[in-house]
Amino acid sequence: MPPIEHLASIPDETLILPPDVSATALREALNQLAKIVGSNNVQVHTKESMKPDDEGHYYNLPKEHDLFYILEKDTFLASGLVAPGSTEEVSQIVKLANKYLVPLWPVSIGRNLGYGGSAPRLRGSIVLDLGARMNKVLDVSVRDCTCLLEPGVSYFALHDYLQKNGFKNLWIDNPDLGGGSVVGNALDRGAGYTPYGEHFSMHCGMEVVLPTGEVMRTGMGSLPGSNTWQTFQYGYGPYPDGIFTQSNYGIVTKMGFWLMPDPGGYQSYLFTFQNDSDLPAIVESVRILRIGMVIQNSPTIRNTLLDAATYGPKSDYTTSEKPLQDSEIDEIANKIKVGRWSLYGAMYGPKPMRDLQWETIKATFMKIPGAKYEFAQPVAEGEKMSVLQMRDETLRGLPNTYELGWLNWTSPRGSLLGFSPISPASGFDANKQYQMVLKRFQEFGFDYLGTFIVGWRELHHIVCLTFDKTNPSERKRAHRCIEALIDDAAAEGYGEYRTHLCYMDQLASAYSWGNGASLKFNEQLKDSLDPNGILAPGKSGVWPARLRGRGFELKRSTERKSESTMIAKNQPSNRRSISSHLKL
Ligand code: ADP
Repeated sequence: MPPIEHLASIPDETLILPPDVSATALREALNQLAKIVGSNNVQVHTKESMKPDDEGHYYNLPKEHDLFYILEKDTFLASGLVAPGSTEEVSQIVKLANKYLVPLWPVSIGRNLGYGGSAPRLRGSIVLDLGARMNKVLDVSVRDCTCLLEPGVSYFALHDYLQKNGFKNLWIDNPDLGGGSVVGNALDRGAGYTPYGEHFSMHCGMEVVLPTGEVMRTGMGSLPGSNTWQTFQYGYGPYPDGIFTQSNYGIVTKMGFWLMPDPGGYQSYLFTFQNDSDLPAIVESVRILRIGMVIQNSPTIRNTLLDAATYGPKSDYTTSEKPLQDSEIDEIANKIKVGRWSLYGAMYGPKPMRDLQWETIKATFMKIPGAKYEFAQPVAEGEKMSVLQMRDETLRGLPNTYELGWLNWTSPRGSLLGFSPISPASGFDANKQYQMVLKRFQEFGFDYLGTFIVGWRELHHIVCLTFDKTNPSERKRAHRCIEALIDDAAAEGYGEYRTHLCYMDQLASAYSWGNGASLKFNEQLKDSLDPNGILAPGKSGVWPARLRGRGFELKRSTERKSESTMIAKNQPSNRRSISSHLKL
């Protein structure tokens, strides 16, 4: 990536200008940023400097664009990157951004795979790479089972820290991939699989740099000298923490979390179910046991192909390049000894407690005809790990990256686009959602890889669309497929809990109850907290007044056709980004 020293040699027309910012202003802003953080910690990005497709991977992510780009590679391209080393530096950066009207896109580590990675929603924004230098575990309390983290602490790093510093008694909770940021995941409302899996509800206290550069602490942290910042979530008065998640109202520089003490025993299990039509019965059973707290965590109900893809690419199983049909999937399920649906769960606590839970869990699921169960065995030397053995680690908070395997289902250049609708945790809704997605996947030519997760009372349906990003027509199909599904889901009263950059506007418009009251409220907050509109414009479909309605919102493909002449006024950079988007 060109370091800032190269800035002078980059022609004006090559710079990725954000709206309302001239080349001179961007140059000045980048040079001033270098004075705050040191020139080693600022980069300038151009189209030519984008990391080649064969270079970026999970441990070497491009920070200037989406690793798994779905529109054009440069649609969500950043103009630069700045890596602060302290809250004070973040505050200074934000003040500078206000002066030059340069938008900032904060990321913690930026491994937000399937949702845009570290790429900014608004082309030309500067990526605020918090994790590069702000990556310390600031505090751990054994008494309270809490920690205080900077944004760059990954699940791997937190686990490592606890193991090496005398805190082996404290477990962490990680999502499927362990390289992400604990702070970033909670801020995007991600989840994991131990009883502490609902990450936002397990956080306690934040330090936030507001879009004006002021710094505040939430909860008990706003009381000077407080000794309960990480133990009591609410403090006094209105509770603001929620507005800093999936939002563009602040930059979180410290965040507290509750950690689970070693439960004194653990046992993971797998139930396999033979029939595709078993899904409703499985979901009904999980809901009852989950709400009754017999099941203490969020088990996953995975389809055959997700497990198959974890073991190897589609070509290991078939020569077919079409979406696989029932009989072919049955064959694969038999071959790899999983179900058409497989439930991976775990019990936590001393053996007598687990024995009691197991009695009920086993009796419930074994009522479904054809169900079988097994427990994870230690991995024998030289043997390939089974999905159960992989899940066994994830379910006990051991970070890993096993699930990267299924990205390559149809191509070694595999990419992921996430689709994550929420519904009631009922068998009826699970099936309706499943059929809805299956139909669209058949129509657009993709295999359905997915998992259903009962959180508390809701069902997260995580659909993993894998595609080859180097194939433009496949990207186009993938894009249209999810676009159609967002509308299908909304028509049935289902909404996604999170989405890729290119659907943020579409999804925000789907949450339209009360004449769009929620979006209006979010915009009002935005305008009051960020009057210059410099923080993550467009995140979750929330645009600041300065940029709202100027053509930066992405419309559906069908609407865009009739709007191809709609170009934002006075914005050469925007004109470029919209026209490149329209190439699809
Ligand atoms: P991960 O690496 O765990 O996937 P990211 O760093 O990509 O997490 O964060 C996911 C999203 O959350 C980002 O795209 C950004 O919108 C938001 N985000 C992450 N970290 C912060 C932060 N410290 N302050 C504000 N928003 C953040």
